[in-house]
Formats: sequence, C-alpha cells, structure tokens
Amino acid sequence: MAISQEDLFKKIVAHCKEYGFIYQSSEIYDGLSAVYDYGPYGSLLKNNIKEYWWKSMVQLHDNIVGIDAAIFMHPTTWKASGHVDAFNDPLVDNKDSKKRYRADQLIEGYMDKIEAKIKKEVEKAANRFENFDEAMYRSTNPRVVEYQNEINTIDKRMNDAMKNGDMAELKQIIEDLQIACPESGSRNWTDVRQFNLMFNTQLGNISGEEGKLYLRPETAQGIFVNFLNVQKTTRQKVPFGIAQIGKAFRNEIVARQFIFRMREFEQMEMQFFIRPGSEMEWYEYWKNARMQWHLALGTDASKLKFKDHDNLAHYANAAVDIQFEFPFGFKELEGIHSRTDYDLSQHQQFSGKKLQYFDTELNQSYVPYVVETSVGCDRMFLAMMSNAYQEETVPDAQGEDATRTVLKIHPALSPIKCAILPLLKNKEELTKKAKTIYDNLKLAFTCQYDEKDAIGKRYRRQDAIGTPFCVTIDFETLENDTVTIRDRDTLKQERISIKDIEQAVLSKTEMRYLFS
Ligand code: ATP
Repeated sequence: MAISQEDLFKKIVAHCKEYGFIYQSSEIYDGLSAVYDYGPYGSLLKNNIKEYWWKSMVQLHDNIVGIDAAIFMHPTTWKASGHVDAFNDPLVDNKDSKKRYRADQLIEGYMDKIEAKIKKEVEKAANRFENFDEAMYRSTNPRVVEYQNEINTIDKRMNDAMKNGDMAELKQIIEDLQIACPESGSRNWTDVRQFNLMFNTQLGNISGEEGKLYLRPETAQGIFVNFLNVQKTTRQKVPFGIAQIGKAFRNEIVARQFIFRMREFEQMEMQFFIRPGSEMEWYEYWKNARMQWHLALGTDASKLKFKDHDNLAHYANAAVDIQFEFPFGFKELEGIHSRTDYDLSQHQQFSGKKLQYFDTELNQSYVPYVVETSVGCDRMFLAMMSNAYQEETVPDAQGEDATRTVLKIHPALSPIKCAILPLLKNKEELTKKAKTIYDNLKLAFTCQYDEKDAIGKRYRRQDAIGTPFCVTIDFETLENDTVTIRDRDTLKQERISIKDIEQAVLSKTEMRYLFS
C-alpha cells in the first residue's frame, strides 16, 4: 500500500510509541524537547545495531580495538580540539514569534522549496514524454535551469559566509531572500550570532571557569587522548583503528524530526591511524567499506548516497557523508572524514606530551594521520524503521482483505527473533508444551511467549515489532513433536520438527550472515 512520505514519518513516530520502541523523555511532565527514551523493543533493536557495528569493526578486524572512554574529559581537551572556539551554529531569533532558528537551515529551507519546484516540473514532464531523459531535461529546460542557477548562487553565498564565519552576510541573505518565520510569518529577525553547541556543567570542588566541564559533543576525542595508551598496551602497528560507541551531547538550536536530531544521542565512531600521505587511499577504503556495511542490511542502493562536503571542517582535508533517504529527504546518516594529524597535533601542543608513533619499517617517528568513520546510532535506528515500516493488504482468517502493519527489519536486527504461540490458551497440554519450547529456545536468542488473543491477532502483534518467525504449537504438536513456523515476509507456514526450530531461526537471524 503506497503511503506518502509525510504520512510515513508520522506513522513511524506513532508506531514507535505504541509498540514500545521509543518514548518522549519525561513524558509525564510533558516531555523534554529532543530527548528520547528507548523502550523494550527499541533498546533491543538499538543494541543489535550497535552489535552489528561493533562486530564488523572490532571483531572482524585484527587491527581495530575498542574502548569505552568517559563522557567527561579534562576541559582543555575541548580547547585543543577546537570545540570551545569553533563548535558553533549560526543562531537567529524571530522577534515576533520568539522562535529560534539556525540561519543556515532557514536558507536551506528556502532552497528546498526551489528544489521542490524543480521536482514538480520534472515529474510533469516525465508524465508527458515517453523515453524521458531527466538529466537532459534538467540541463536544457529554461525554467528548470533558472531555478537551478538560483539554488547554486544562494548555496555558494551561504557556504562562503559559513566558511568565513560571516554572520552579517548570513543575515543579509535571509533579508535578500525575504525569508519569513514559518511560525509568525514575520521578517522581523535579530542579528545572526554564533551559538556554541556544547553543554557545560561545573565540578563540585572547583569554582569558576577553572571547574567548567563539558558533556562531550563527540566520542572521537576520548579516542585521540588515549591513542598512545591503546597503541602501547595492544602493541598495534600503524595502520590500526580504535572504535567506540557512546553518548554525545549537543545543544542543538532547532531539534526536530524525532530522533534524527537529538540533544543527547549515541555515536559509533572509529578513528583509523595511518601513515601521513596514505590518507586518500584509506579514505576511499573506508568510504567503500562503510557503504557496504549499510547495503548488507538489505537497504535499497537507491536510498543511500555519498555527498561530498562543500565546507570542510577545520580539521579535515576530505569529508563525505553517507546520506539516507529519510521520509523527509536525503540526510546525513554517517560522516567519513580525513582528519589529517590535526587532533593528535593539537593535543600534543596543548598537553605538552608527545603523541608520536615510531614506525619501525620507515625507521622514523611521526604524528599519525586519521581517517574517521562516524555514524549516529539513533539515525541508524530511524533509517532502519523508515526502511522497514510497511502496510500490506493480506487475507484475514475469513479470506477478507485486511491491513497488516509489518516491520521488515533485517532478521539479524529484529528485537525478537521468534515468538512461541500455543494455538489455544485454555488447553494446558498446549501451553505447557509451548512453555517448554520457549524455555529451551530463549537460551539461544530473544524469544517471546504469547498466549493472549486469537492466533491471527498474535501474528499481527509480532509483525508490528518485526519478529521474523512465529512458531505455533497445535494439537498435531502433541502427537508428533512438530510445529508450524511462519515467515514474517512470505507469510508461508511450514511444519517442522521441534528439534529443528533453533537452527531454522538461527540460519536467518545470526549476525554472521550480514558479513558473508
Ligand atoms: P548534522 O550536519 O546533521 O548536524 P554533523 O555533521 O554535525 O551532523 P557529525 O559531527 O559528523 O554530524 O557526527 C557524526 C554522526 O553523528 C552524524 O552522521 C549523525 O549520524 C550523528 N549525529 C550528529 N548530531 C546528531 C544529533 N543531534 N542527533 C542525532 N544524531 C546526531
């Protein structure tokens, strides 16, 4: 059943709440904006995403090791990394609605509207002409070319202003384009000013600036400051990587789009330490490896794309995003950055400690270069949900058309791998047998025992949380120790022996199949 992208997003948000995937934080107090809690199925799915990442990085690479650094770090870390001075977003307030916006996002929103006009023209033309050549149409149709030129001009102006930290120019662009506040419709804007995204707090035993602590805005710095500790204790040789999964905090000005932009979120980052000069080779390697990681989950290739950064961060000499087509458009899911020796050199300078590596093959010491891969766990979660959510028309028990909502998540990520369902709940011989099977299978993977409601309803509940297999215990089970096993995607039911259930489920749900 076709669902519009806008509806799809609303449905995913509602589904996440209804089925125990994600709740608004502190909901009984009307919630805390852009902070979310993961419920029972959400935390299982999120853990599976993390496990898939960790295994593919740490378990499968001899030369990548994992760490778990603290969220709090010495405050000088953030001076050295550049976050105290440069981790800013351009903030602008509308004086009438009192709403805050990111100036660059207001301008991007304006460009999105022009892009939507182009899309409309293209769609109209595609319906009109046979053998429609979109690229040719985009480059020759005068109206489309004019729209595209307008986007390019604005984009360049904005990027230049961002690169130069020119807040006055950003304000000027907003004024020139006559951008109005989406809330009040007014164009009564304050000046644009820099807003630092780091949350801070205070150490109990030191007052003033000295005791100021930050909640880390990225996990990467915990890896950089531990570079030598890890290298020495594991005797790794360059090239080698350090991987970490952990919380990061950013005081986002406009936090919306559900878990896409949160103030507290989780990152899965890997810093790969390499010889200076080899960064482009490794950058290409990790670009490819990370794209394969996403594709292995069965995500359609058309929903993933690379987007080179127009504006390189202060630490990078090459950077690309892997974008995913969320219901609200293609947006960043993961970043791959060639960070040069910026971070280690900065920490070396600020700490006064050498952070060099002696390369025995070259017989020389150097500060290694770094290629980083950084994917948001929560964005990955949202991508998986967007990909998996489907509404299908299927025949019900009476053969009538019925709608089923199903999460077609890759079975290796599914929160529950197998549901154990006695056909009837008031027949003790069935429930007893089902519980024995359940107690046995739960040692191997996450299972759920459910005896409440008619069997069809129980299947629907499992479909809605993405359970790949449902095992039903019926009267035949009592005679010959066989059960029916139902496949979530094909809806096919097969009769198999109880002793074969475990292997049947494992053969589709084990993580190893993602790596083959
Ligand atoms: P954006 O441009 O969307 O703000 P970013 O370029 O600042 O993201 P990075 O600093 O590269 O993001 O962080 C790496 C990854 O962390 C991102 O690709 C994203 O998946 C995730 N991430 C960053 N900020 C947030 C956030 N506020 N909420 C959820 N995930 C985030």
